[in-house]
Amino acid sequence: MKLARTRAELQAALAGAARPLGLVPTMGWLHDGHRSLIERSRRENRATVVSIFVNPRQFGSSEDLARYPRDEARDLAICAAEGVDIVFAPPVEEVYPAGFDTTVSVGAIARPLEGAARPGHFDGVATVVAVLFGLVRAERAYFGQKDAQQVMVIRRMALDLAMATEVLSCPTVREPDGLALSSRNVRLSPEQRAAATVLHRALVAARTLHERGEASGDALRGEMRRVLATEPLARTEYVSCADARTLLELERVEGPALLSLAVLFGTVRLIDNEPLG
Ligand code: AMP
Repeated sequence: MKLARTRAELQAALAGAARPLGLVPTMGWLHDGHRSLIERSRRENRATVVSIFVNPRQFGSSEDLARYPRDEARDLAICAAEGVDIVFAPPVEEVYPAGFDTTVSVGAIARPLEGAARPGHFDGVATVVAVLFGLVRAERAYFGQKDAQQVMVIRRMALDLAMATEVLSCPTVREPDGLALSSRNVRLSPEQRAAATVLHRALVAARTLHERGEASGDALRGEMRRVLATEPLARTEYVSCADARTLLELERVEGPALLSLAVLFGTVRLIDNEPLG
């Protein structure tokens, strides 16, 4: 496995890499969710690049950039064990060199949900992914359905800017009790960790209601709020029942939809989602 710290080292490593090439962008603190992306890339490509970069541009000023968990030695060991060919783990100035002055800003799909809750977040995501796509020029890149809106934003960007990398989405990997794996879970206290199963419970409750014939968006959002309210440690930021293509809130579910939510446990912010139909 080659470790590249600079753009130049990355280009040198890529020169010898087999094709097709798969890219798995991450912010490190790797878990089984990341592993599932790496495994899929390894199956579908002849070489895999994992990037490890905690992207300051996608964190708001008051957010958790400084508290984001990091353990590069452990991440590198996981990548080696998973058969990754190249790890790109650059310092901030290699991704954003002096003079860097471009922001990629995706339109309507980036506005609701996470875009509304975290102003500037998707500009940061789209910009860093554009840089990574440009540097790696992979045939395919793999993202998690756990961040459903993120995949949609990146797809839109790649399509609109005629990027040659195909954007692929992989299922959410969960703990046995339903909690979606996330690097942020490590910051939960034991009590918060136990309470955090409420995200998935709320999604399943709303999905079950829908399966029994409930099509009202308000009823499905209300069901998620009701379940979340049973957990005193959970502070609900938003619940959503949206059109799966536009992410605009639905009055009635009549086609593919996405249930999603964002919940705070102390300062730890968790998101999850569940498709309908
Ligand atoms: P992150 O390191 O949190 O930026 O995540 C890197 C990639 O892994 C993103 O495409 C995420 O959507 C994906 N990912 C994170 N958690 C999970 C999970 N539990 N299951 C599947 N993919 C995930």
